Amino acid sequence: MLRVYRTDLHIHTCLSPCAELDMTPARVVSAALEEGLDIIAVTDHNTAENIQPAVEAAAGLTVIPGMELTTAEEVHILALFPDMDPLMRLQEIVYKDLPSTDDERILHEQVVVNERDEVVRFNDRVLMDATGMGVEEAIGIIHGLGGISVACHIDRDAFGIVAQLGFIPESLDFDALEISFRTGRERASKMFGPYSGYTWITSSDAHHVADIGRAATEFTMREASFDEIVLALAGEGGRGVRF
Ligand SMILES: [Zn+2]
Ligand SMILES: [Zn+2]
Repeated sequence: MLRVYRTDLHIHTCLSPCAELDMTPARVVSAALEEGLDIIAVTDHNTAENIQPAVEAAAGLTVIPGMELTTAEEVHILALFPDMDPLMRLQEIVYKDLPSTDDERILHEQVVVNERDEVVRFNDRVLMDATGMGVEEAIGIIHGLGGISVACHIDRDAFGIVAQLGFIPESLDFDALEISFRTGRERASKMFGPYSGYTWITSSDAHHVADIGRAATEFTMREASFDEIVLALAGEGGRGVRF
């Protein structure tokens, strides 16, 4: 039977250098439950080291493993996966392009935490750097690993694909486009008419606990799972998404 699942597929943790330090995986999960979300994806910049503790803390919430990848063109794309293994393989590829640093300011803003909110260590890579992967290559790698890719915040004037490239090349096989919480469906329809053939979602892109729940997409599907999300994005069998 189909039902509606309130879903936010773009949330950061304290491992993202731009996110609040109290965005621990356990706190993200509890805030998402308080906001009535059924499904979230945890998506830090170019890393996946805080995903497993979020999955372990999930208690009643479905947590999709993910990453917000920065391509060579400085385009942000979400990579979402059914489980941890392919995500860790993507992280290996991404880490080859990200140098380590001894800059204390960066180190202390990139906190790896366990499911009990204890600091495990600090990530010493420059996570905000661009990787060497172009957008098309990145989408190919994500699909090859069994994941889906979403063009992030296409309405933002930085790090969205339209901002960086000026348009969305037809050759790019995105599974969905994300409209940020700032713009909303109505304005986005006027701004991005040529891209109406894609499935659109909205997300909070939360970097602060208070931001969790400020935007969500309603997925109509059979159960809260990655496979059903894929089918809903494709509009299969009466499934669908709306915001
Ligand atoms: Zn972004
Ligand atoms: Zn983000």
